[in-house]
Amino acid sequence: MTAERTARRFPLALGRLRGTAKDESAVAGARGGAAGPAMIRPQRHVATAHADAARRATAVGFGLDSADVRARMVARLRSEGVANETVLAAFAAVPRHLFVDPALATQAYEDTSLPIGHGQTISKPSVVARMLELLFGGARAGAGGDLGAVLEIGTGCGYQAALLCRLGRRVVSVERLKALHDKARGLLAPLRDSRLRLVFDDGMRGHPPGAPYDSIVAAAGGGDIPPAWLEQLAVGGRLVAPVQRGRGQVLVVVDRHADRYTHAVHESVKFVPLKSGLAG
Ligand code: SAH
Repeated sequence: MTAERTARRFPLALGRLRGTAKDESAVAGARGGAAGPAMIRPQRHVATAHADAARRATAVGFGLDSADVRARMVARLRSEGVANETVLAAFAAVPRHLFVDPALATQAYEDTSLPIGHGQTISKPSVVARMLELLFGGARAGAGGDLGAVLEIGTGCGYQAALLCRLGRRVVSVERLKALHDKARGLLAPLRDSRLRLVFDDGMRGHPPGAPYDSIVAAAGGGDIPPAWLEQLAVGGRLVAPVQRGRGQVLVVVDRHADRYTHAVHESVKFVPLKSGLAG
């Protein structure tokens, strides 16, 4: 990805993130801290909430504002076999600690899943990286060099959506829990990215207005792949999702061809359950 393209995608705040402490203070500012530029203030109630969180957070004191800590995470991902440089660059750029509870910030760059409230978890970086790398193996993504039009099921705290914004041309992310949808909206506000659409809905239905999608990724696992996802997948598109297999889950990759779908089963994983309906 060229610098020019990145700049166009992220005109403000996170878009300028190159992992420098200076850049990150802009994000902290957008969350209600004192250091950031005034131009990226979110609406007041979000800013107030984040100001409270920032007071409790000691992320800067732990050195989490440094690019080094993310570079170490990227080095670990690389040593574990993640080879896609675009994916690795996204991990190097997005500050994961800003998406987790301040009390857990010190663990943000460990390879561990973390609670994000409401009984949900943010997946561990190695699993997220694996899924994103698998998406890049799709025919359209492979040809285009990016993930194209992306549908994410399960916005959660918005961390993966922030990564996807750096990898796709437009991103629709659906969340069924209103509290998490609102939380992600606040955390992603600094992106000010008009190509990112956060939708409060039951993601089992996909999101027809944005279809077809070149890449579909689910952060929650169900008994099977919902038919709507298959219908909304573009020809040449790829879907990556955890699916129940016996007592556990496996990562399933579905490719849509002109006349058929092909399925491939990959490693065992452990995701929160895909649930239908909405909840407050
Ligand atoms: N990608 C997220 C991980 C979220 S965990 C992140 O980076 O934080 C999985 C999320 O899927 C949870 O927030 C859960 O509420 C959501 N989820 C489960 N079933 C869903 C459904 N049918 N539609 C939309 N979201 C769903």
